[in-house]
Amino acid sequence: MMCAALLSDKSEKIIIEKNAKPGRKIYITGKGRCNLTNLCDKNEFIDNVVGGGRFMYSSFGRFSNYDVMDFFESHGLPLKVERGNRVFPESDKSADVIDTLRRACRENGAAFMYESEVKDIILNEDRDAVCGIRLSDGTEMEFDNVVVATGGLSYPSTGSTGDGYRFARTAGLSVTKCYPSLVSFKIKEEFCAEMSGLSLKNVSISVIKDDKEIYSDFGEMLFTHTGVSGPMILSASATCSINAAGARLVIDLKPALDEEKLDERLIRDFEADRNKELKNVLRGLLPASMVPVFIGKLASAMAGAGMKAKGGMSLSETIAETKANSVTAEERREIVHLLKNFDMNITGLGGFNEAVVTKGGVDLKEINPKTMEAKNIKGLYFIGEVLDVDAFTGGFNLQIAWSTAAAAAADISAGCEEE
Ligand SMILES: Cc1cc2nc3c(=O)[nH]c(=O)nc-3n(C[C@H](O)[C@H](O)[C@H](O)COP(=O)(O)OP(=O)(O)OC[C@H]3O[C@@H](n4cnc5c(N)ncnc54)[C@H](O)[C@@H]3O)c2cc1C
Repeated sequence: MMCAALLSDKSEKIIIEKNAKPGRKIYITGKGRCNLTNLCDKNEFIDNVVGGGRFMYSSFGRFSNYDVMDFFESHGLPLKVERGNRVFPESDKSADVIDTLRRACRENGAAFMYESEVKDIILNEDRDAVCGIRLSDGTEMEFDNVVVATGGLSYPSTGSTGDGYRFARTAGLSVTKCYPSLVSFKIKEEFCAEMSGLSLKNVSISVIKDDKEIYSDFGEMLFTHTGVSGPMILSASATCSINAAGARLVIDLKPALDEEKLDERLIRDFEADRNKELKNVLRGLLPASMVPVFIGKLASAMAGAGMKAKGGMSLSETIAETKANSVTAEERREIVHLLKNFDMNITGLGGFNEAVVTKGGVDLKEINPKTMEAKNIKGLYFIGEVLDVDAFTGGFNLQIAWSTAAAAAADISAGCEEE
């Protein structure tokens, strides 16, 4: 829609959409509010593009976040900027973004064809130029230019089912392997389910693979039935999705204190609550639903260190009921260690049906970054998430879609002017 809205008004243009309505994915963006771009500078934008940052230089330079804001505001959609420079419609309604785009397309003379699925792209005999498309019902339509904006594989219920990758491959272009990104991690340990819904704020995480730290961050995360999610985990998935399976996630629950300071704090807490059971003292340090899980992990560590259960109780129960004043220095050190290194095993990523974006796609080597045209096929363009470009959350993924759309529109329009 952005491409059609920006194309020369001299060109005939038609948007072919397989759904009954356009922009179903936009509708669910930003929790229904659509974080449509980010008001950062160019370097920050490029830094937030995880894969394909260099590729984005030219198209972002030509149609930046400021141009996106201008576009929407000049088409009657007031915007606002929130925490983290995230830009939203003032109305907080993603539907208003879709309506604005649809109106801009109509005003620019673009027609819409709904419930029409493109099955194939038709090339000339030499396979070096586009001739048109074929719909699923067999209808063939001739075009000088075809812009593939079919999205990735995430949330397939919105219509993005990866058709563009097939179009690219059939046209002889390479497509890199696709992974879900901005997605949860699946965790081996079943204790995540016990803490499902618990959000941890101001904690640090590290992702460790083969003894190397491959990601670290500070912020907020969430436990789910099958693992972990939340802002930090989504960002981690964008950076290390390919390596995630088999890695270890280590949470520092007290990042503001080093081990020595934390030990001093525990000594003070245990002294102040000397007759309380450990499980109750730990409630002052951890969220309530985490305490039994923490004690369970502590029991595994202490069993390894030779601690024995008492009086017919399990080791976890023994630890939970230990009085604060009888916790030994060694036991306290285990507690400190676990508070700083609460670890679990990542078995893989959540699926495409819950991933915000797809990592991977049409190989950038095949595409001219200034125009989005396939280098070897005249008139065939790829824009948006179908390309092997992905970014962190914050409005950057839609900015990729807008900038690449504008690049294709400018190139096609320049061709129309020449004619
Ligand atoms: C839950 C969620 C929240 C998100 N929130 C944000 C956010 O707040 N900010 C942000 O920047 N990004 C966000 N994103 C990512 C962003 O929505 C996508 O990166 C962006 O929509 C990609 O745009 P696109 O035009 O390339 O593809 P899409 O938006 O996926 O659009 C592709 C369109 O092509 C149609 N189509 C596909 N195949 C065919 C075919 N064969 N024939 C005809 N039509 C076809 C589909 O029906 C669909 O309408 C979010 C994504 C999700 C899933």
